Parts: sequence; C-alpha cells; structure tokens
Amino acid sequence: MLEALSIKTSAREEIVNITEQIQRVVGARGVEAGMVWVYTPHTTTGITIQEGADPDVRSDLLAHLRHLVPRDGRFRHAEGNSDAHIKSALIGASQAIPIEQGRLLLGTWQAIFFCEFDGPRSRRVLVQVMGNK
Ligand code: ZN
Repeated sequence: MLEALSIKTSAREEIVNITEQIQRVVGARGVEAGMVWVYTPHTTTGITIQEGADPDVRSDLLAHLRHLVPRDGRFRHAEGNSDAHIKSALIGASQAIPIEQGRLLLGTWQAIFFCEFDGPRSRRVLVQVMGNK
C-alpha cells in the first residue's frame, strides 16, 4: 500500500532527514523482511541516502551542487528554475532500502534525505512498503 508523507520546506534549498518518518511507515505496515521504496513526485526535489551524523555533510552537498549548477541566466527554461531541475536530475527521484527484522537496513552513518531545490513549498513523498510479515 502506498503512503504519502507531507513535507513542508522552509528555504529555497534544504535537505530534510526523513529517516524516522520512513521507519514509522515500515513499522506500521508490520513488514519484517522486504523493501521500502521512497519516491518524490516533483521535478525540483530529490531523495538521497547520505551521512546523517554531521550536518556539515548536508551543507557541503548543497554548496557543491550550487557551485556545479549556478542559478543564473545561462538556461533557456522560462520558469527560471533550471538549476533546481538539474540538481533534481543529479540526485534522482527515489531510493529503495532493504528491511530486515522490521527495521530499515541502513549503515551506521546513513540516513534518508528529502532534497528541496525550489522551495519553500509543501511537498509529498510517496512510500511503498513491500515484503513479508
Ligand atoms: Zn521549471
């Protein structure tokens, strides 16, 4: 069953840790072994798995994406947010995470992040839990 999470971002670019929300959905489904698929249905956002311990990793990631894809007049797209579309394409729209004994099988330092590149906005993240109870 598909579940929709609501995420409110508060800046144009922001990386939000959604690991606990995903674990809650997995726990509520009662799936012991399987996989959870986390997907963002927007063209200026992304889902990534990255280090969750040091917040500097997130700010370095955003700063480097900004350096790679500056927000300036080089793009044709009339909406003026091509930088956000390109950052979204680089990060990707989804991640799949294995589930074992009812828990996300993440590494010690890994967390799941929603990436906003054209906020602040209200966003949705879709979560599909698959597996055996
Ligand atoms: Zn656009």
